[in-house]
Amino acid sequence: MAKLETNLIHEGEHFNPTRSVVTPIFQSATYHAGNDPEAYITAATSPKYPEFYHRHGNPTNSQIAAILAKLEKTEDALVFATGMAAISTSILSIVKPGDHIVTQHSLYSGTSLFFKEFLIPFGVQVTQVEQTDNEAFRAAIQEHTKLIYIETPSNPNLALTDLAYIGALGKEKGILTVVDNTFASPINQTPADFGVDIIVHSATKYLGGHSDLTAGVVCADTKWIETIWRRSIILGASLSPFDSWLLLRGLKTLSLRVQQINRNAQQLAEWLEKQPAIAKVNYIGLPSHPQHSLAQRQLRGFTGMISIEVKGQDEENAFQNAQKLINALQLFANAASLGGVESLIVHPASMWGSHHSDDQKKASGITKGMLRISVGIEHITDLIADFEQATQNL
Ligand SMILES: *Cc1c(COP(=O)(O)O)cnc(C)c1O
Repeated sequence: MAKLETNLIHEGEHFNPTRSVVTPIFQSATYHAGNDPEAYITAATSPKYPEFYHRHGNPTNSQIAAILAKLEKTEDALVFATGMAAISTSILSIVKPGDHIVTQHSLYSGTSLFFKEFLIPFGVQVTQVEQTDNEAFRAAIQEHTKLIYIETPSNPNLALTDLAYIGALGKEKGILTVVDNTFASPINQTPADFGVDIIVHSATKYLGGHSDLTAGVVCADTKWIETIWRRSIILGASLSPFDSWLLLRGLKTLSLRVQQINRNAQQLAEWLEKQPAIAKVNYIGLPSHPQHSLAQRQLRGFTGMISIEVKGQDEENAFQNAQKLINALQLFANAASLGGVESLIVHPASMWGSHHSDDQKKASGITKGMLRISVGIEHITDLIADFEQATQNL
């Protein structure tokens, strides 16, 4: 069986029906049916058929799905226009009103809003627990629990959920488990190894890797992918041909990018931990991270995501220092998103200020002096030098 780096280049090549070495952009909404009525029926009714109508499928989307299924060690995969489309369509394919979901407090803000503003008014019950407490997940299970939904590492405090525990708990209770694997990427973590059933990604982040597209992916067995596909053609968030082509291009260098990002982040985190202006560094690759040994058990690399707490005499002063630091950095752009080749930094308390209550921020570990860093592939010497000059005047 081919190795991961080879799969990134060659898997699903058969979905390119042309002689072009690079899979073309299939910029077409629809495809000729030919003269065979049987073949037309097959095209119209087969899940993910790549040459019928764009909302049903597209050759580049099929090639990406083949690659992602290999990376995540699932039977199949399906691509979407955004990560939120992958998440919402998948969950809506699993639960109905009256069902119960167990999830964690710390979730991507869009996912949190989907639970709060959509699923709960829709009649689905949701219990949120502390993700680092395995027993809390077990205790929250009810008779009508349909789904355990987790995210690890989570955003922005970089806490981990124990994948082996959740995978086994789901199997024991006959409850479906879904994990958002965006922060780790399949290079660093494959939740299927731990018995998790369904893996979702915002492909906007590491998978695309160049901050030039939005996309989402869900990886699961064939049965679930077909079920989710049937919902997806109704909800309609299909990935456009050009974004699909960009995603396929980005995927080719996924392993190279993530390895360089892992190395850069480790060095930057170790450096930051020694700086007097920084009160705390959250990085799962540091022995000081409270879940470092769990990180070593379930991840092969420790990602490019670091969060730090800037020092201050009080919360307000820490807030001002955090703002000052962001403004003084030259290489780290103050921008949302993550996982691209360029380093980014955000102030979570400002970014999510509007749709998180103070209690929610606390439960997600968001403090006023916290900054979240997405380390890119620039040279580490320059990244450290940038922090060095920016922290000088704090
Ligand atoms: C960005 C992100 C999402 C949402 O993805 P979009 O592509 O922006 O819709 C979901 N989960 C995590 C962890 C993310 O970082």
